Amino acid sequence: MTHFEQILENQRIFFKTHKTKDLTFRKSKLQQLKKLLSDNEKQLYEAIHSDFGKSGFDTYTTEIAILYSDIDYYTNNLNRLAKPRSVKTNLVNLPGSSSVYSEPLGCTLVIGAWNYPYQLSLAPMIAAIAAGNTCIIKPSEVAPHTMKLMAELINYHFQPEYLFVAEGGVEEMTEILKLKFDKIFFTGSPKTGRIIYEAAAKHLTPVTLELGGKSPAIVTESADLELAAKRIVWGKFLNAGQTCVAPDYILADEKIQTKLLEYLRHYIQKFEYGPEQPQYTRIINDRHFERLKALIDPQKIYYGGKSDASQRYIEPTLLQDVSWDDAVMQEEIFGPVLPVRSYRYYREALNEVLEQEKPLAAYLFSKNDDEKDLFTRLLSFGGGCINDVVMHLSNPNLPFGGVGNSGTGAYHGTFGFDAFSHKKSVLSKAVWGEPNLKYPPYSDEKMRWIRKVM
Ligand code: NAD
Repeated sequence: MTHFEQILENQRIFFKTHKTKDLTFRKSKLQQLKKLLSDNEKQLYEAIHSDFGKSGFDTYTTEIAILYSDIDYYTNNLNRLAKPRSVKTNLVNLPGSSSVYSEPLGCTLVIGAWNYPYQLSLAPMIAAIAAGNTCIIKPSEVAPHTMKLMAELINYHFQPEYLFVAEGGVEEMTEILKLKFDKIFFTGSPKTGRIIYEAAAKHLTPVTLELGGKSPAIVTESADLELAAKRIVWGKFLNAGQTCVAPDYILADEKIQTKLLEYLRHYIQKFEYGPEQPQYTRIINDRHFERLKALIDPQKIYYGGKSDASQRYIEPTLLQDVSWDDAVMQEEIFGPVLPVRSYRYYREALNEVLEQEKPLAAYLFSKNDDEKDLFTRLLSFGGGCINDVVMHLSNPNLPFGGVGNSGTGAYHGTFGFDAFSHKKSVLSKAVWGEPNLKYPPYSDEKMRWIRKVM
């Protein structure tokens, strides 16, 4: 038996004790986690800074605060979420009552991505705990300091038969994926998502796939251009563009493109994303640094383009007159490069988006109700905003997930609880008032009644 097999086997034995189903147990583990994070905040900041220079401010607002708020949400709402829900009983089943029970799926696996290393590994784990499961967490090895710290903290403070952080890369993942889990929750690229889906299919394990893609931001003539530029610059260059829901590219009405570019440049300068500034994160590794540099066509630079390999720093860069044949439009950028394309007619912009894979996010900047209506009705995307970017993620009442190539399933709030639960239907029949209609021998008279009842 391999190490991971043994851990999973122990988790299965522990799950069968039914301890994880107890609501008091779940809440106490959530609170224990909150205390663990808060006692070690300084170390959490240091580890992420070592991985890619992310500031304490950004780490708190985009990772730690979200984990605290998830823990509070599930602690405060757990009784309601876990309570069996009564539903109506249809005529043929009367007298009787019907209920939906939320039961934990069992032994779960959470696989995280590196770009928000704490949030993407621990937020699904928090939902798994709330729903009453055990969990093995595999953070991304691409952010090695945060992976190591999560393993140290969780493996020391929680019993491994309940929660266990597995360290390692593709080799270890390949071992882990041979095992039979009751749920796999994956965050990462569509390419790896396929590998996960295939491995899960062998055991008929249900999956949530939180993937990526090219998320457009459409800016129309009617938009408040200055506000659009301010919000886009913030959402794009946060985490140096290494955000799954960052606007990947802009489609701007040709009438306002020049003005928009000026505002974008203005806000990039105003937000001070220089190499020495704490508010600007570094590129995660040399491979991504080189990949991103190759996406910057010097002929198309409107602003930026400078880089420093020794610091893995890439200046926020705006590209103009970009075509779909350019390298930058062939893949998810996942870095601080923002191409802008212009369109003549709004429908043309929508059609361009419709021709691509369904994105994880889409954004519209407009004051026109017809434009807003067409955007929400015609485009298919995981989630998005009108007149903002990224912020839809911060509302726990909205599901967060992709569609098609950008993912399957969703989480956050109730949706996170449901992602790790099975909805068990139970029909409870009375032992009196039994109609004999369904029982043989059949007759025309019974058939007439059945037609009426059904
Ligand atoms: P990735 O797919 O390379 O890695 C994700 C995880 O999969 C890591 O834990 C890694 O160890 C594991 N992995 C990698 N290769 C594997 C293999 N061959 N077999 C088994 N496991 C393997 O993704 P990444 O580079 O960490 O993250 C970037 C991608 O993730 C982007 O596409 C981005 O849009 C997407 N993303 C999506 C979300 C979301 O919430 N939808 C959030 C963040 C990132």
